[in-house]
Amino acid sequence: MKHNNKKTILIVDDTKINIDILIELLDDTYDVIVSLSAKRALEIVDETPVNIILLDILMPDVSGYDVCRILKTKDNTKNIPVIFITANTDEESIDLAYQVGGIDYITKPFKALELLARVKTQLNMQNLLLELEESSKELKLLASQDHMTKLYNRRYFADISVSILDLAKRNNKQFSILMLDIDKFKHINDMYGHHIGDEVIIALANVLKSTNRKSDIACRFGGEEFLILLPETDIDGAYIIGEKLRKLVAELTVKVEDQDIGFTISVGVAQIDLKNENDLESTIQRSDEGLYKAKESGRNMVCKIEN
Ligand code: GH3
Ligand code: MG
Ligand code: MG
Repeated sequence: MKHNNKKTILIVDDTKINIDILIELLDDTYDVIVSLSAKRALEIVDETPVNIILLDILMPDVSGYDVCRILKTKDNTKNIPVIFITANTDEESIDLAYQVGGIDYITKPFKALELLARVKTQLNMQNLLLELEESSKELKLLASQDHMTKLYNRRYFADISVSILDLAKRNNKQFSILMLDIDKFKHINDMYGHHIGDEVIIALANVLKSTNRKSDIACRFGGEEFLILLPETDIDGAYIIGEKLRKLVAELTVKVEDQDIGFTISVGVAQIDLKNENDLESTIQRSDEGLYKAKESGRNMVCKIEN
């Protein structure tokens, strides 16, 4: 286990004197691991996180080129930058080093400061790449998420609904949709204020999150309207889940700023018609009809619309 923020450099060279020179140069700034053999080097990268590799080319067991080739084929090592350090100065050797995936090429005898600068440059680049990867992951998440409730948003639902339908058709698996809407939510806003209305929406979202199965996909579909996609669930199973949610919410009181607020939801339920439907539009429409019927029939109710 590492207890510092130093980057780790792996030096691979079959000549001890070369390794000693590099250790002398790098040891102050970096954690240095060394290997006198190519085979051992390949084991090390599987056991220990390594940020950069300085790799000799001419070694008795396996050549540096082959080491690099192997590293580039494996998911856990393919992104480790490899700098070749070698006595070979001919153009073919240099060309091959880049072909097998090397990121830089330093010839021996090298200038110490130049080597340090090149190592640092590659490590900086690697940092930038990692940051970029992180922020693109974050952006992706943000783009698929509803900011207020942290449920999926409608856009994400539209994006994935095609593949969900494909999957269901291929495996001949039913799925259903619940459409939920808070009853008389305008009253809550009017009585307690918009800010507390927001808290009620968030509380409902949290109920949905905590009762969801892993495979369920809950989205905030509109203001105080939610859609839950239930894989491998037929309309009767979905109705039972809708009822469970309805009851749970009806018994719930949300405490916001010392106010105990109760509320109810209405739920519409529909099942995809796998044989006849090629998108989710009609299923969503039926679940919406179910919701409308539940509202018409007095609210705090679950209504299913058969295909
Ligand atoms: P119904 O039982 O028929 O659903 O009655 P309702 O009052 O809930 O009617 P409707 O669904 O038409 O109204 C929803 C209201 O929710 C209207 C809108 O001002 C409010 N609203 C929508 N989004 C938000 C939000 O993010 N925060 C808050 N506080 N209110 C919202
Ligand atoms: Mg409403
Ligand atoms: Mg509404």
